Amino acid sequence: METPDWDKPLEAASRAAMDFLHGLPVRPVGASVPRSDLLTSLGGELPEEGSDAAEVIETLVRAAEPGLVTTQSGRFFGFVIGGSTPAGIAADWLTSAWDQNAGLSLLTPAAAVVEEVAGQWLIELLGLPDNASVGFVTGAMMANFTALAAARHAVLAHAGWNVETAGLARAPHIRVLAGQDHHDTIDRAIRFLGLGTDCLVTVESDDTGRMLVGDLVRELAEREGPTIVCAQAGCVNGGSIDPLAEIIDVAHRHSAWVHVDGAFGLWAAATPALKPLLAGVERADSWATDAHKWLNVPYDSGLVFCAQPEQHRASMQVRAAYLSHSEPSVRDPMDYNPEFSRRARGFPVYATLRALGRRGVSDLVERCCTLAERFGEQLSTADGAELLLPVSLNQVVVRFLAADGDHDAHTRSVLAAVQNEGVCWPSSTTWRGQAAIRISVSNATTDSADVDASVASLVRWHRQLNS
Ligand SMILES: *Cc1c(COP(=O)(O)O)cnc(C)c1O
Repeated sequence: METPDWDKPLEAASRAAMDFLHGLPVRPVGASVPRSDLLTSLGGELPEEGSDAAEVIETLVRAAEPGLVTTQSGRFFGFVIGGSTPAGIAADWLTSAWDQNAGLSLLTPAAAVVEEVAGQWLIELLGLPDNASVGFVTGAMMANFTALAAARHAVLAHAGWNVETAGLARAPHIRVLAGQDHHDTIDRAIRFLGLGTDCLVTVESDDTGRMLVGDLVRELAEREGPTIVCAQAGCVNGGSIDPLAEIIDVAHRHSAWVHVDGAFGLWAAATPALKPLLAGVERADSWATDAHKWLNVPYDSGLVFCAQPEQHRASMQVRAAYLSHSEPSVRDPMDYNPEFSRRARGFPVYATLRALGRRGVSDLVERCCTLAERFGEQLSTADGAELLLPVSLNQVVVRFLAADGDHDAHTRSVLAAVQNEGVCWPSSTTWRGQAAIRISVSNATTDSADVDASVASLVRWHRQLNS
C-alpha cells in the first residue's frame, strides 16, 4: 500500500482555514446563499469512483463557505456561541490527525492525562471542590444528562433502590424541581433518563428568571422522597443567576441533590469581579458547563463535574473483559461519560487553558460582560429601544417599539433585516410574552467597535422600518 498523500489535502485545508479566519472582519455574518443553492453545489449522486483528496477539500470549501454562518465573527451574537482561539483550533486539528480513542487510558495515556490535568485546572478556575470528578462530553446537554444520571443513582440509592440494576419500572418516584426559566436540555435529559417530564415540578421565578426560593421551600415541604433540584447559573435569555447559596441550603435540608446548569454562567466564577454572583455554587452536588461557549474552545466541548465521584462512576462505569481497564488508581475517561469510543476532546480544552492562562480566561469573561454593558447603555438611550431585562453577565434582551403599536412584529422585522444585512447576527426570543432580540457577547475577539457597529445597524433598521 502506498503512503497516502497527507500533505496536499492538509495544506489545502490549512490554507482555506487561514483564509476564512483572516476574512472574518469583512465577511457578512449571516449565510449568503439560500439552502437551495447549497443543495445544488453540494448535492448530486454518490460518486462511483473516488477523487483526489486535495481537490475534494478545495471543492468542499468553495461549495460550503457561502453557506456558513460566521459564528466565529466578533459580531455574531446569536444564541450563546463562543468563537475559537488559535491554540484551540490548532489542537483540535491535531486531535483529528492523532485520531485517539479517548475512552480508555490504556489506549491513549496522553489524552487521558491531558483530561485529568485540564479537569483539575477547570475545577480550580471554577472554584469547585478539589476532589470533584470531571467528564468531557459533547456539550451542556450531555453534561446535564450525565449529572442527572449520577443524581438519579444517588437519590434512589438513598431510598434503598439500585436503579442501575433494578431500573425504574418499580422504583420510588423521583421529583425534579427546576425553575420556570430552566433550559430545555433539562427536560430532554429527564426524558432520556426515563424519568419522564411529568416528574418535573416547576418552581416559579422572578421577572428576571431567577428561581424564587420561597416557592422552592414550599414545593420541597410538599412531599418527602427522592428529589433533585436543578438550579441555573446563567438563564439563556437574560443571563440571570439563581440564588444558589439559598437554594443549596434548603435543598440539602431535604436531602435533595442539587445540580447547577451553568452552561455559560459558571464561567463567571473564573473572574474575581463576578465570582460573588455565584456564592455557594461549590456546595452543589453536580455542575454542567460548556467549554465551547465562553471558553472559546471549538465544538464539541462540554464538561460535567460531580462532587461525589463515586455516584458519577456508579451511573456511568462499565466493565468488559476485552476492554483492558486500568488499575483503580488510573482514571479511565469512559467511566465519566455516556460515550464509549470518543474524540480526545481534552486536547483543545487543555491548549486553550494554557494559551489563555488564568488571567486570560478572567479577562475574556470580564471583557464580554463589559461589552454587554456597552450594548445595554447604548440601546437604553436609543429612541424606541427597550431593554426587557437588566443586562446580566454577557446577555442583553431588547425590543423595539413600533409606531403602529405592534411591537412584536416590528421587533421581528428589525431582527430579520439586521441578520440579512450581515453587520451582526443577534437571535430572537420571547420574554414573558413579548418578542425580543437576544444579544450574547461570547466571542474572545469582540471589541467595542463591533458593539458600536452592531447597535448602529439595529437602530438604523428600527428607524427605517418605523418610518
Ligand atoms: C447552551 C445551554 C445548554 C445546552 O448546551 P449545549 O452545549 O448546546 O449542549 C444548556 N443550558 C444552558 C443554560 C445553556 O445556555
